[in-house]
Amino acid sequence: MRYCRFSTTDGPGYGLIETANGADQINRIAPDGPLPDVARAEKCAPVPLNSVSLLAPVRPSKILCVGRNYADHAKELGNEVPAEPLLFFKPPSSLLAHRATIALPSSLSQRVEYEGELTIVIGRTCRNVRQNEDVRPYIFGYTCANDVTARDLQKKDGQWWRAKGFDTFCPVGPIVTDQIDPWAGVQVETRVNGALKQSGSTRIFIFPLDLIIRHISQVMTLLPGDIVLTGTPAGVGPLAAGDEVAVTVEGIGTLSNLVK
Ligand code: MG
Repeated sequence: MRYCRFSTTDGPGYGLIETANGADQINRIAPDGPLPDVARAEKCAPVPLNSVSLLAPVRPSKILCVGRNYADHAKELGNEVPAEPLLFFKPPSSLLAHRATIALPSSLSQRVEYEGELTIVIGRTCRNVRQNEDVRPYIFGYTCANDVTARDLQKKDGQWWRAKGFDTFCPVGPIVTDQIDPWAGVQVETRVNGALKQSGSTRIFIFPLDLIIRHISQVMTLLPGDIVLTGTPAGVGPLAAGDEVAVTVEGIGTLSNLVK
């Protein structure tokens, strides 16, 4: 299944996407909620996906992020490869839609960077996942995110709440799909003004998705609609006003945002 979330005449809703004649279109609309309730979806006149105003496709109670999940990225920032997953939060207030604008907090930070990441959307309540338990039934789908980071504040502050938490610092989208297999490896790429800056395969994760979800679930209950950003490849770098930053995950699509 592939879906987006968008503004309908009745307010926000989930659009279920199908391909017809090579173009993506919305054929059914499910009511708004933490996740699309496919059983309650209603048929609609086909709407071309590229004609709608997309919203962030998720409504998480919490946004978990993995730091340093690619060895080459840990190295580029002078960090050791961690012994266990390094997790942090971004607040749901930082969510941003595809094509919306990232606002640089110029009075507080002089160094804001992009981090393109594959992102998991949780589908079922998840607590205390057992060793060797298959985590795939807990995953509703996958999307792209940009873990926008004020790098100077991250280095200065002991906690990362500021560096990671500004409004607009969590672009997510454009759609969610369950039709990829990160275990087999999908390519995560980031471009700034069209120039390739990051490229890494999820096959070389330090911590595979099983381990990450189990690790989180030993501490807190993951709820349907929660999202987990899985870490960024090497090649992080600064954003400036006027830039366009685009995160592409193979098999999902491209999340594109302007910077001001
Ligand atoms: Mg990150």
